[in-house]
Amino acid sequence: MTPSDPTFPTRRAARAEAERRATAAIPIPEPEPGRRRSTFEQPAPEAGHSAREERVAEELTGTRGAEQTPTPDPLSRRALREKPRAALGAALGAPLLRRRLAVAVAGVVVVAACAIAVGFAASGGGQDAAGPANAAGPDAVASVQGPPAVPDEGLPVPTLAAAPAAATPCDNPAFTAALAAKDDGAAIAAAGGGAAFRDAVASGIAPCVSLNDPTHQWVVVNKQRPYDPVDWRPDDLVMPDGVRALEQSAMRSSAAKALTTLVRAADDAGAGEIGYLSAFRSYATQQETYAGRVAVGGVAAADRESARAGFSEHQSGLAVDIVPCSGSCGSLDDVAGSSQGAWVREHAWEYGFVIRYVDGQESVSGYEPEAWHLRYIGPELAQAYHDGGYTTLEAFFNLPAAPGY
Ligand SMILES: [Zn+2]
Repeated sequence: MTPSDPTFPTRRAARAEAERRATAAIPIPEPEPGRRRSTFEQPAPEAGHSAREERVAEELTGTRGAEQTPTPDPLSRRALREKPRAALGAALGAPLLRRRLAVAVAGVVVVAACAIAVGFAASGGGQDAAGPANAAGPDAVASVQGPPAVPDEGLPVPTLAAAPAAATPCDNPAFTAALAAKDDGAAIAAAGGGAAFRDAVASGIAPCVSLNDPTHQWVVVNKQRPYDPVDWRPDDLVMPDGVRALEQSAMRSSAAKALTTLVRAADDAGAGEIGYLSAFRSYATQQETYAGRVAVGGVAAADRESARAGFSEHQSGLAVDIVPCSGSCGSLDDVAGSSQGAWVREHAWEYGFVIRYVDGQESVSGYEPEAWHLRYIGPELAQAYHDGGYTTLEAFFNLPAAPGY
């Protein structure tokens, strides 16, 4: 092939067109004024504009790596158009570019082969080729196409597989082992902490965690979520040490220890003594409690203040109704206005408790505010609850509201 070859302009044009198409289909990321994206801020792949494609374009235009001297993108685009081969060489590691380069090369080979055949036939040589070539005549040259047809929208862009699903703690042997051992603290630690545990459960990627299981501190009991079995009762009930109990009412051992620590801390902080009236209540006890409320105010009033048997947090052994004490102890209704109540609002989460029923959340929790009703969920989850600004366990775990039965 020499410049004097009559087919040379055609081949050159075809090759140029092939290379133009191979490179023009690569989108160039628009520059962000005053800020360049770091390698840690790759956006999620979008249809028709994959992250890989963007990386290739960045390599071609020299924009990859904000640390290097930035080249204005308009210049980069020009450089891309004017030096496609150099740019392509720099990106030989990219499969996408290799594919496009192969398409371009294949096109050139087709052009060259056709041109040779046409030239050979025109010179009169080759009986086999003469027939069809001559039959086609000059149109054969005109009909020679360069590279295979490339749609206007560019070559198909390989789509990346969907982002892998977020890791679930249920695939973590340390997590499942802790779950099986009923070591809730270890399970939460294995999941990456309280917030990570909450995120996994609330987003639905942790099916091995049951919020119905009352053996765990994350159980959620409300008017839509009864115990199963309905008369379930914990097997590790103990009386909290050093806490004034107005009834002989126990708690699960983890919650009892935490209550002891909380009460001491409140006293040390000068908030005053905290006692409690009622903690664990069995299914049978709750039947009596609820029936007593119904007898006084009717079903509607009772349901706003007291749970039906099988639906009470007190049956979990993780809930306690505190009272303020100063010499003698006050009532539940005294908590909200007491120094003990104020301290608990600020600090209960530090000891693993949340105030389960707060003002303005009756439509979610199903109960009027109860400044006295503390629910133990463990220090890790209580911190996530506090830090996240949650006011109901339903919202915390992304559960439906439970305003009624
Ligand atoms: Zn209560």
